[in-house]
Amino acid sequence: MFDELSEKFDSAWKKLRGHDKISDTNVQDAIRDVRRALLEADVNLQVVKEVVDRIGEKALGTDVIAGVRPDQQFIQVVYNELVELMGTDNQPLAQSENSPTIILMAGLQGTGKTTASAKLALQLRKQERSALLVATDVYRPAAIDQLITLGKQINVPVFQLGTDANPVEIAKQGVAQAQAEGIDTVIVDTAGRLQIDQDMMAELSQIKGAIDPDEVLLVVDAMTGQEAANLTQTFHDQIGITGAILTKLDGDTRGGAALSVREISGQPIKFVGVGEKVEALQPFYPERMASRILGMGDVLTLVEKAQEEIDIADAEKLQEKILEARFDFDDFLKQTRMMKNMGSFGGIMKLIPGMKISDDQLNQAETQLKRVESMISSMTKQERKDPDLLARSPGRKQRVAKGAGYKTQDVTKLVSDFQRMRGLMQQMGQGNMPMGMPGMPG
Ligand code: GDP
Repeated sequence: MFDELSEKFDSAWKKLRGHDKISDTNVQDAIRDVRRALLEADVNLQVVKEVVDRIGEKALGTDVIAGVRPDQQFIQVVYNELVELMGTDNQPLAQSENSPTIILMAGLQGTGKTTASAKLALQLRKQERSALLVATDVYRPAAIDQLITLGKQINVPVFQLGTDANPVEIAKQGVAQAQAEGIDTVIVDTAGRLQIDQDMMAELSQIKGAIDPDEVLLVVDAMTGQEAANLTQTFHDQIGITGAILTKLDGDTRGGAALSVREISGQPIKFVGVGEKVEALQPFYPERMASRILGMGDVLTLVEKAQEEIDIADAEKLQEKILEARFDFDDFLKQTRMMKNMGSFGGIMKLIPGMKISDDQLNQAETQLKRVESMISSMTKQERKDPDLLARSPGRKQRVAKGAGYKTQDVTKLVSDFQRMRGLMQQMGQGNMPMGMPGMPG
């Protein structure tokens, strides 16, 4: 009766004993998939190389979860690593203790810097925090007008001195005005160029020196793809950024730029722009971004499910019980349910590499499991804890059989099979390989 199950236990057993590790050979394909996914998501080539190498080192030797293929589990390792790399949690905007909080916006022209400034101001206003927008792009009158228009739209004041003033001076005066008026946060929009330009960098640097901002946010267009890495490097080296806003994520980019920004600067993405409207700004969530970059949602769901169901602590407790021959019907039921919860029994069996099982056999195994479950459900607490109690008492077996709707000999067989299995498990626990159980690690 337990023949089918013993195979299932085999993989659970590997988990318990920690014998089956992720190895070079069983994840080659997965490494290739991950590399491709990252490149398709426009993660910078150099960044891809570093990330994949590091992940490879981390993953090798990781215990394989029972019921999950090593390559799939590798992808979970990758996912976790990406999430960690991007900061795990959303990083909120810095807030100065002595108001006002000063935010300096930096980035190339057209990335969405002005729009992002207004979006941020709107979010602050919604949090009952006052804001002042400062327009320092004196090179493009249209940029100042754009900020004024946006300011009106969201009901946030805009500080500007026209196009003849010096940008550093405008920034300083803007901050002074916010201070005088008790405004909570100043957002300084700056001039951008289509490409990195030394004059622009020098000006940004001067503004930064003059107003000592709490945040220097680099605005990065997610569509920039590969170039995001160079851009971040230059801005971070020359100005020093404290975070980034990734714009235009509503487009069809997978957003690999997020990974490049974080990997290169070590600074978190704090927000993402998801549309042209002023409301279209969201906090950045590393988990969502990692799924999007990998584009492998299905596999991740499966692995996460397996991890949820197989609780390491539970598995260790189980192992102890086996070693001490305290494994009882309750544990057995728990183990069975754990497997069933992970999806249909058959689905899981098919995921085990090299497992060849016909649908007929699967159906039989599943029916068998149901029988066992219903018989165990008809046992008293005491009987479940102490299988020998049933072995000794024909009356008890009869009662259980009646309750479950089976024959007494079915219960007798269940109990004797269970005792036999427990004996085998105990032998294995002591390091002896029992005869007739191929594939069990010794
Ligand atoms: P700046 O030159 O960096 O200040 O860029 P702007 O704020 O003027 O934005 C440039 C263009 O990008 C405008 O047409 C914006 O409407 C658009 N834009 C900005 N952010 C987003 C976004 O998150 N999604 C989309 N689809 N468009 C955006």
